[in-house]
Amino acid sequence: MAIYMDHSATTALSEHALQEMMPYFHEEYGNPSAIYGYGQTGKNTLEKCRQRIAGCIGALPTEIFFTSGGTESDNWAIKGVCRRRKDRGKHIISTAMEHNAVLRTLQQMEEDGFEVTYLIPDHNGHITPEQLEEAIRPDTVLVSIMMANNVVGTVLDIKELVKTARRHHIPFHTDAVQAVGHIPVNAHDLGVDFLSLSAHKFNGPKGVGALYCRLSSPLQPLLAGGGQEKGMRSGTENIPGIVGMTTALEDAVTSMKSNTEYLKGLQERMISGVLAIPGVRLTGDPENRLPGFCSFVVEGIPHSVYVVNEMNERGVCVSSGSACSAASREASHVLVALGYGKSEAGSSIRITLGTDNTQEDVDYALRALRDSIHKVRSEKPAGLI
Ligand code: PLP
Repeated sequence: MAIYMDHSATTALSEHALQEMMPYFHEEYGNPSAIYGYGQTGKNTLEKCRQRIAGCIGALPTEIFFTSGGTESDNWAIKGVCRRRKDRGKHIISTAMEHNAVLRTLQQMEEDGFEVTYLIPDHNGHITPEQLEEAIRPDTVLVSIMMANNVVGTVLDIKELVKTARRHHIPFHTDAVQAVGHIPVNAHDLGVDFLSLSAHKFNGPKGVGALYCRLSSPLQPLLAGGGQEKGMRSGTENIPGIVGMTTALEDAVTSMKSNTEYLKGLQERMISGVLAIPGVRLTGDPENRLPGFCSFVVEGIPHSVYVVNEMNERGVCVSSGSACSAASREASHVLVALGYGKSEAGSSIRITLGTDNTQEDVDYALRALRDSIHKVRSEKPAGLI
């Protein structure tokens, strides 16, 4: 069995979540919109899950809308706010290091006549309130800035950024897909208007997530249809998925303190071990980073995919940036945004640890990484970038 160290890409469904989901596939399968008993059981389950999810992220149940995952939540928040507020202006502020679920959505908005300001993070992946303040214009209708970055693991100070946007009465969306279930997230405390989360990042099932929408924040539905989710998100609700997500998130929140402690221990061991390899540097904020998140650039290799392949040969799953762009062999746009040169940005290795990893796994992976980097450096395969 391979050692899995790519938990930011996705996680295994927890046994507990799986058990809780099972009855909803073939016993309690009623459509929650139906008025007979089966349907009402589904409806009750759905509303209980909404309450429980809200409890996990410091929100009210009426502020939680179920979606098909992080990508849909990001698309919905951006398109839903901009379309609703287009009469007030057509300017959006975001950053150059967002996930493609946000960046590609913003590109679509540009095609629709919106103008986007992409704030440039500092070398560690932070955006300052002053940068945001400077970018705000009278026609700004939305700010969208991620809570934790998926390539370097930096955790941003969203609360401070929200204060700036609030002073100008501009709605604030945060992509918290990498944060929820891993670090404390309290929507009311942060003050955000919209927050995206995705179940498969915290041992829930794939293809389900949620969008937090603060009461009375402006949002237009993205999907038209049967009027589910109070007319805001049509489509029959994925009850087994929602049950699995709820169970996984409650478990993640309950054990967050001990998980964080455990992961920080492994993370320190991994980072200090990797940094002992000559020509390797840590990326992202050395302090404010997600627990278990280790990311590096490696000198003297043509591209990180070679190292990732060598690691795979040695039975360790790591990534060359984010899963979505792992196959593209391009330089990571995040590292370019952080000021790394094109070839450095193509040499990024991401090792994201989970509670299923052990100290022995870390030690094995360190040996494998040393050997893999050495092999790629000495063989010097033709560069791809
Ligand atoms: N946003 C971030 C920061 C992510 O890391 C991801 C997934 O990797 C997404 C959005 C997309 O989430 P999903 O896979 O649920 O569509």
